[in-house]
Amino acid sequence: MDNTPTLTQSFIEEQKEKILGLLKEYNDPEKIKEALEGEKTNPEDGESPYMVYIREKQKNVVPILKTALEMIKLDRYGICLICGREIEMARLKSFPGATKCCQCMNINVKK
Ligand SMILES: [Zn+2]
Repeated sequence: MDNTPTLTQSFIEEQKEKILGLLKEYNDPEKIKEALEGEKTNPEDGESPYMVYIREKQKNVVPILKTALEMIKLDRYGICLICGREIEMARLKSFPGATKCCQCMNINVKK
């Protein structure tokens, strides 16, 4: 079986930029601080929605994005971690950090 990705180097570079951009957004203390000041959180409401959003992303998305970056380094970007097939182009475009193909994603969701 030939697992060589058909993705072009320039596409991968673009995806890498997007991933780094997302990581920066989720890990940017200045931006978070700014958002917090702008929101005027009511302490009784608990955390501001933005912080909840960021925390969610840091917990669930950042590890995936980091994995995707590793895949780029290893020259395996665009290959599904589960089945080893190529991840659909549309999926990579909608989420540059995708590390599983649509099929394997669905299997995961069903569990
Ligand atoms: Zn798969």
